[in-house]
Amino acid sequence: MNDMGPQPAYVSGVGSPLTADPAFYGPIAKSTESRKLVESVLIPVRSGRAWAAPAGSVVRFSIVEGPQVLDLNLWNRHDPRERFWASRTRQFYGAHVTTGHRLWSNLPFLRPLTTIVADSMSYGRDADGAGCHDLLGTRCDPYVNQLLSATAYDFHCHSNLTRAVLPYGLTEFDVHDVINIFQVTGLMPDDERYFMKASPAVRGDHFELFCEVDLLMAASTCPGGDLSVPLWGPEAGREPVCNPIQVAVFSLDPSLLKGWRPPQPSGYQGMHGSRHGLNAPQGVPPPLTEAIRLA
Ligand SMILES: [Zn+2]
Repeated sequence: MNDMGPQPAYVSGVGSPLTADPAFYGPIAKSTESRKLVESVLIPVRSGRAWAAPAGSVVRFSIVEGPQVLDLNLWNRHDPRERFWASRTRQFYGAHVTTGHRLWSNLPFLRPLTTIVADSMSYGRDADGAGCHDLLGTRCDPYVNQLLSATAYDFHCHSNLTRAVLPYGLTEFDVHDVINIFQVTGLMPDDERYFMKASPAVRGDHFELFCEVDLLMAASTCPGGDLSVPLWGPEAGREPVCNPIQVAVFSLDPSLLKGWRPPQPSGYQGMHGSRHGLNAPQGVPPPLTEAIRLA
């Protein structure tokens, strides 16, 4: 501890694997003229869609009519046990993400699945401490809906994502904590409970991900729409403002990817100490300061 007050915990002492190199990602962000459209998916209101996105491609999410939040899941296309890890990503960058931040995968993989290359919102932090593109929350679901409102509804984001991935051999158990794109959220000043504000996104707003590995993506246009109407509680009951979202997958000019390779999964091979025997070492395990230094 020092007298500077709290400091971020997850910072690197070995260069910065958390940071995207602007010299590589900047030209990709600017490359809109030279990109080739590979796939285009319009996600209608209150719906889910899934699509594959190859390593080295850019996926653009666009507001085409009016404000709408989008719940996104990511999996390694070849091994769905590797998927987006919202909480570790939040520890790295904060509760809201923007250009230059990366969306990381779960253990035992822990590598960037995507890097954010464009964010037209550039929302920053507002007077309520809220930010845009949310990692604090997760998807809405029929279980919590039934819990809080005693009603059954089949088109919450969890259900939309579930239907979207069924053709890919995945199930409800593969759906995981999302990034809420175009969604403004924060924590109440008194008790830190989660709040959501109406999305300020307007037609033309967009958010772009560079795919670091071959991915399966699934997204849901939240039935809460722009979140201008509370989903639960005394103010609920009016129909939210819902709009479609356009998804476009682009291949890039190969010159932009020169020298780039998909990041590899974590190289940790310590087997969680089990190489010492399941209850070993005898006595007290070695102190943290005796961690093995890797080349
Ligand atoms: Zn939702």
